[in-house]
Amino acid sequence: FKTKFLATAARHDHLTGLPLRYGLEEEFVQLKKICQRNKSLLYAVMIDVDHFKRINDTYGHSVGDIALCHLADTLKRNIRPSEPLYRFGGEEFLLLMQTSSPEEAALAAERLINVVRGASLMTPQGKPLTLTTTMGLSLVKGDEELLGVIERADRALYAGKNVGRDRYVIAD
Ligand code: GH3
Ligand code: MG
Ligand code: MG
Repeated sequence: FKTKFLATAARHDHLTGLPLRYGLEEEFVQLKKICQRNKSLLYAVMIDVDHFKRINDTYGHSVGDIALCHLADTLKRNIRPSEPLYRFGGEEFLLLMQTSSPEEAALAAERLINVVRGASLMTPQGKPLTLTTTMGLSLVKGDEELLGVIERADRALYAGKNVGRDRYVIAD
């Protein structure tokens, strides 16, 4: 039990409770197979908090931490249980999303962007704090490797940052 507990703990982020990226590769390969079998589409969604440094600078690092937990909860509550969500890095999350069409992927991303913006939190100082995120989506092509998929999602994300944030961009 202890060994299993330690192994699980090491793979999960203490702050948000989300899995860290260690299991991502394996889960990606599995989901890719499932999607090929179902003829559904698999998207990687890179999610990055907008101007997060500003939140830390304004309210302090501990409020920044609370904001990250709040965001993880909001995302988790608005995705399917079968869709893995990882804490990918500091204020970046990676979601693997299955859809039946590109239109459905766009709608799902739009919806997530909106729920995040709508779910403001209260700081310990009693001030409401609104978070926004920018998301980059890439459709997994054929037998594409995870690394390439993530690179394309990242580029789409940065394109979204450059044109004003609080939006999603789908890589081509
Ligand atoms: P952009 O909209 O371009 O993404 O701007 P940004 O400020 O969000 O991006 P930047 O990469 O400049 O800053 C990210 C910040 O996230 C810097 C880092 O201190 C903070 N950060 C990363 N991990 C954590 C964490 O676990 N807790 C807190 N409080 N801050 C974190
Ligand atoms: Mg970032
Ligand atoms: Mg950011």
